[in-house]
Amino acid sequence: MPYDPNNVFAKILRGEIPCTKIYEDDFTLAFPDIAPQAPTHLLVIPKGSYIDYADFAAHATDAEILGFSRALGKIVEQAGITQAGYRLIANSGEHGGQEVPHFHVHLVGGHALGRMLAKE
Ligand code: AMP
Repeated sequence: MPYDPNNVFAKILRGEIPCTKIYEDDFTLAFPDIAPQAPTHLLVIPKGSYIDYADFAAHATDAEILGFSRALGKIVEQAGITQAGYRLIANSGEHGGQEVPHFHVHLVGGHALGRMLAKE
């Protein structure tokens, strides 16, 4: 399936939909999730057009991958939750529950998050 340039994060990157920028550099943008599920809930996205992690890992340049990974670390530090703990989540596809088909990492924390996956 090709990348959909009309997904909401592509629109944010083009400035067609507003966001509150928490962090930005050449490769990465971070902003608060519009429907936060924890006291801290940020979305961290690469600026390149990648659908999910596998697409990003296979097709992004080394500079993009390194830049994104370092930026993610800085954003976690900046959020001030490294001591207390946090969780990074990258949903993919139907089974992963991905709603927006532009690769993104959720940074959640600010209170105890419980089990990694809900019990069926
Ligand atoms: P996922 O299910 O992993 O694809 O998560 C997509 C996330 O994007 C959800 O948590 C939404 O609340 C969030 N979201 C959707 N639209 C916006 C927006 N305009 N600004 C910020 N977050 C958004």
